[in-house]
Amino acid sequence: MNLDFVAGKTFETIDPRTGETIARVSEGDKEDIDLAVGAARRAFDHGPWPRLPGAARAKIMHKFADLIDQHIEELATLDTLNAGKLFSWGKAVDIPSVANTLRYFAGAADKIHGQVLKMSRELHAYTLLEPIGVVGLIIPWNFPSTMFFVKVSPALAAGCTMVVKPAEQTPLSALFYAHLAKEAGIPDGVINVVSGYGPTAGAALTSHMNVDKVSFTGSTEVGRKVMQAAAASNLKTVSLELGGKSPLLIFDDADIDQAADLALLGVMHNKGEVCVAGSRVLVQEAIYDEFVKTLVEKAKEWVVGDPFHPNSRVGPQVDKKQYEKVMSYIEHGKREGATLLTGGKPAAKKGYYIEPTVFTDVTDDMMIVKDEIFGPVMVLMKFKTMEDGIRAANNTRYGLAAGIVTKSLDTANTVSRSIRAGVIWINCYFAFDNDCPFGGYKSSGFGRDEGMVGLQKYLQVKSVVTPLYNSPW
Ligand code: NAD
Repeated sequence: MNLDFVAGKTFETIDPRTGETIARVSEGDKEDIDLAVGAARRAFDHGPWPRLPGAARAKIMHKFADLIDQHIEELATLDTLNAGKLFSWGKAVDIPSVANTLRYFAGAADKIHGQVLKMSRELHAYTLLEPIGVVGLIIPWNFPSTMFFVKVSPALAAGCTMVVKPAEQTPLSALFYAHLAKEAGIPDGVINVVSGYGPTAGAALTSHMNVDKVSFTGSTEVGRKVMQAAAASNLKTVSLELGGKSPLLIFDDADIDQAADLALLGVMHNKGEVCVAGSRVLVQEAIYDEFVKTLVEKAKEWVVGDPFHPNSRVGPQVDKKQYEKVMSYIEHGKREGATLLTGGKPAAKKGYYIEPTVFTDVTDDMMIVKDEIFGPVMVLMKFKTMEDGIRAANNTRYGLAAGIVTKSLDTANTVSRSIRAGVIWINCYFAFDNDCPFGGYKSSGFGRDEGMVGLQKYLQVKSVVTPLYNSPW
């Protein structure tokens, strides 16, 4: 960990509850990325980490997880201060879960092995799974801790070394994690955290000739740049977890109360700053009117307020830019002729709070229906038949997640096979687990985080072939 970057520049990080500066953070740039990649390269080429037995890497990862458990309060506080996330949720869910992500992948570290191949000729052959090398991990601001460990944990288990570029809005917990990694005994050079901006530090990482892979989570727009930079430099492998505009389909046999709760959870949780937010809610016409009534009533339960307060369910948007973006989509929706059912206004004089907002009477060509808003804004639509619902659900350039609410197994099974998205939740939403792969179809990216498939992308497959005794070779 090196907090004094080459140019000695710093940038402000703010508290979205007030808009005030809470800290100045070292601003890494191209030279710092060079140094960090150099350290990661040396640690990969000559250091112990990739060469340790898997069980030894696992032991250190478990220690890292235990240290996180000992600092849950401080870490949850940092993410609340820096990202406006609910403190109670961070303390009970987000931070304990990241320790478990480390433990999950630690459990895989000593089970990484290839296969013996059945060759058609007189040959003995097998595959070796080797760490892919130096990886660049670029993460967004909406889940600063979760995203850090969804990437760092499998990379550590695989034996990779890494440079992490946290989002410029939320560098604080990442810097704390770098400190804990050192305390846990992760050797120098294995995890390097460079705080800084995307177009400078981030771009330097994606175009670096000595980085073997980039794992990126962020917007579709920047995902394109990441691929271009990888192609234009050393053809490093890339995986992209990008944006979404996920549908929640509610069928007319659904329990309306449960469906309304899921719909609100799907888009109001984490103030809508969730890549898998169920921001398009599609309701079958027989229950539409009753659903709307229930939804509007239940929306009042989503209390906006200070994320440190235990009664708050919706904190502030991460910063002024995001707040203005969400408000401008709301204004757009009104101008385009959508009906505002509830919300639609700033929710406080100070800080970046927005009321939970629901639009109806929308059409497919409206920006609020097509674009990822990344705020507490739902669009509500009606559909007739299952086929109509499937067509509407798939009518998006994205394909990250989808939800289905129904009592019918046939409906659930048919619809889940028909929707082009990486995760389908039936009668639930945001049901995540370390064992459950996660990633997108279409413009939501490619590659999967989490699960054993999430480990594969940090590994290379090498085939080793040798002639058998008496073979013609
Ligand atoms: P963003 O794309 O602006 O930034 C993401 C990261 O990329 C940041 O660390 C940023 O500094 C960096 N970056 C920016 N420009 C770069 C460049 N030219 N080269 C390299 N790196 C660059 O996204 P954001 O605003 O931080 O996050 C919101 C987006 O992330 C949303 O679209 C959301 O859906 C998506 N997201 C996706 C997932 C997922 O798993 N699919 C999870 C969380 C967020």
